[in-house]
Amino acid sequence: MALIVHKYGGTSMGSTERIRSVAQRVAKWVRAGHQLVVVPSAMSGETNRLLGLAKDLMPSPGDAAALRELDAIAATGEQVSVGLLALALQAQGVQAVSYGGWQVPIQTDSAYTKARISRIDDARVRSDLAAGKVVVITGFQGIDPAGNVTTLGRGGSDTSAVAVAAAMNAAECLIYTDVDGVYTTDPRIVPEARRLASISFEEMLEMASLGSKVLQIRSVEFAGKYRVPVRVLSSFTPWDIPIDEEARSGTLITFEEDEKMEQAIVSGIAFNRDEAKISVIGVPDRPGIAYQILGPVADANIDIDVIIQNVSHDGRTDFSFTVHRNDYARTMDLLKAQVMPSTGAAELRGDAKICKVSIVGIGMRSHVGVASRMFRTLSEEGINIQMITTSEIKTSVVIDEKYMELAVRALHKAFELEQPANTVG
Ligand code: ADP
Ligand code: ASP
Ligand code: MG
Repeated sequence: MALIVHKYGGTSMGSTERIRSVAQRVAKWVRAGHQLVVVPSAMSGETNRLLGLAKDLMPSPGDAAALRELDAIAATGEQVSVGLLALALQAQGVQAVSYGGWQVPIQTDSAYTKARISRIDDARVRSDLAAGKVVVITGFQGIDPAGNVTTLGRGGSDTSAVAVAAAMNAAECLIYTDVDGVYTTDPRIVPEARRLASISFEEMLEMASLGSKVLQIRSVEFAGKYRVPVRVLSSFTPWDIPIDEEARSGTLITFEEDEKMEQAIVSGIAFNRDEAKISVIGVPDRPGIAYQILGPVADANIDIDVIIQNVSHDGRTDFSFTVHRNDYARTMDLLKAQVMPSTGAAELRGDAKICKVSIVGIGMRSHVGVASRMFRTLSEEGINIQMITTSEIKTSVVIDEKYMELAVRALHKAFELEQPANTVG
């Protein structure tokens, strides 16, 4: 008997029919003798619908008072899901009880819309499990020290599930979703994408942080910090497939590098359209200029991603960086008001129609020429690279958004990711 955490995403919870199938699957695990904690997301589309209602009433909520209400609104999607799932389990003859994050409690800080989990008190959950119940806990939400409902950022149910699994020392956290694992890239963009039987934690962390929305990045961070065994698998297989077959399906996140005898040079391609590029043109090139430009941005709690500074000409240089698209307007306003006058820069340019495409693989560590193959592939497609950033196991480029799919497909092909044999020994 083991304690297992299941997480079901929005599509998996998308209708009462789907919820019944989830309940049947969970009941199967319970009958096999396991203790189950289940963390569902809101029904698909529900969080968007709720946030849409809020937007009708306040188009761009910014201050803490408004963000508090956004979280109070968005958290209700998961509240409905847990009740429905617990009811569906009871209808299967399985004892089940549902809790909101505040009832467990799942404690977070007060950063509304992107709160971080600080502590999970598992006493109540443990006593329910000991009494033979399945415990169904809301994904995505928690409670701050002052008792306010918070949410963990879009896609945050993954993080709730992995955090619960970590806090309870669960044997495994199974993330059930609408694809049957982690692929070499989003299979919706590249139909030839291949499912990976396993992926190293480091690669998964990069893939998630670079835009693969299959797992929220914080869930991967939690998995790494607490060494939680995480598997991504499909909730769309027949619920009654044999449990050992199900337990081996999907993609396992691994922590032992040498577990994989052979490592792919590039394991996957990630992309995101969530950023915008800002360029400050013709700034005097003097010490402290980067701080003068980026300091106010950081002070406004805006995350900066890729940064480049051009070589200077006649004592002036151009400075570009990317921010999340949600922060684009605010960053432009801030630069116009503060940075342009204080630096004496000539011009401010913004471009929200960019995307970032990245190749990821731990095999890149031991292989030269990987980035240049990436650049050559893009040049053969006539795609101009605007910015480049690299780390040991990834190379990212910023390009025009309209070439995103073309770039991802071309790179997938160039690195032969559709073929399982592409590995370095
Ligand atoms: P859920 O609602 O279950 O949390 P998400 O929509 O958040 O599901 O994540 C699953 C989706 O992630 C898939 O439908 C797929 O389109 C997308 N995705 C992006 N990159 C990848 C990848 N590398 N492998 C698998 N799925 C990916
Ligand atoms: N329902 C939330 C969202 O849509 C959380 C999640 O699905 O993981 O972002
Ligand atoms: Mg998700």
